[in-house]
Amino acid sequence: MLKGKNEQRTSLAELGEFGLIKHVTDSIKLIHKSSVKGVGDDAAVLQFDKKQVLVTTDLLVEGIHFDLSYMPLKHLGYKAVMVNLSDIYAMNGLATQITVSIAVSNRFPLEAIEELYAGIHLACATYKVDLVGGDTTSSTKGLLISITAIGEANAKDIVYRNGAKPNDLLVVSGDLGAAYLGLQVLEREKQVFQVNPNAQPDLDNYTYLIERQLKPEARKDILKLLKELKVTPTAMIDISDGLSSEIIHICQQSEVGCNLYEDKIPLDPQVISTCEEFNIDSTTVALSGGEDYELLFTIDTADYPKIKANPNLTVIGHITTPDEGMHLVTRAGQKIALTAQGWNALLKKRAKF
Ligand code: ADP
Ligand code: MG
Repeated sequence: MLKGKNEQRTSLAELGEFGLIKHVTDSIKLIHKSSVKGVGDDAAVLQFDKKQVLVTTDLLVEGIHFDLSYMPLKHLGYKAVMVNLSDIYAMNGLATQITVSIAVSNRFPLEAIEELYAGIHLACATYKVDLVGGDTTSSTKGLLISITAIGEANAKDIVYRNGAKPNDLLVVSGDLGAAYLGLQVLEREKQVFQVNPNAQPDLDNYTYLIERQLKPEARKDILKLLKELKVTPTAMIDISDGLSSEIIHICQQSEVGCNLYEDKIPLDPQVISTCEEFNIDSTTVALSGGEDYELLFTIDTADYPKIKANPNLTVIGHITTPDEGMHLVTRAGQKIALTAQGWNALLKKRAKF
């Protein structure tokens, strides 16, 4: 990623810290009334009137959370913002501001940081979020990005993880498992490239998987959809670690059990065909893969008619009393206890956001 063709390399030392900050924040135009003061003073000033304020943060470290040999910097910037916005949407809140802090080694020229910020600015413009501050420093090795997202909601609209009750339906947006498989495909191509740098990767069969890994979208649209359908989830969480561990979070915090039906889990055809090719079980990938950034929520059964025909939403199970436990009901009708295996279950290295 750092060695391109028409590569211009402007050293960060030439600009200095303040020059760099100005360079990446100069074009910012604030859109929210709540953003009273953005970049340029000792602190941003925000005003939320009668709303409650949501705050979430994530730290991403090169080599742990991302690999720049197949993650373009623009995508990294975009994804780093998505990961945070997804957490605000999972509370049924409106994301309004972010701050972005970076630590960069001298391996990165200005052009690389411009790419990163192109992705960050694109995410902000697409999701209507103001970039109001951050911090910039150097690192001895590699790139670190920390993003904090701020959002707002009326107290009565906020959806916590702990509101699910017996008989509620368990619903998921979109489809699952694709981002994990996208990562496996990219890792495989990286290894092929290391052995034979002239190999031309043929990724046509994996376009959806790779897009889900490199350019995930936070599901702001699902909140709008639920509002239009007049459905308020009783509990909600975003799927960053895998369906299984997120269901367990909802059940434990709500003090309930659940039955999840294997045959209901929504899978894209590319997920099914690639699982066959890689000889891995698609249910395991959906349960433990992670990085889907879909929303998992529970609704009252009375709301079922409002969502049942919607192609964006799938009912995958229901909530039970706590004594029934948390189970996966397999296609064969067998009941298996759900465990939060996360990526360990797949016994493969995974760059988890
Ligand atoms: P301080 O010395 O108070 O930490 P800085 O010189 O680091 O201030 O930052 C100056 C302004 O630029 C502040 O408003 C800060 O929030 C903003 N800023 C610094 N780094 C970044 C960054 N990487 N992205 C966006 N804004 C930044
Ligand atoms: Mg600073």
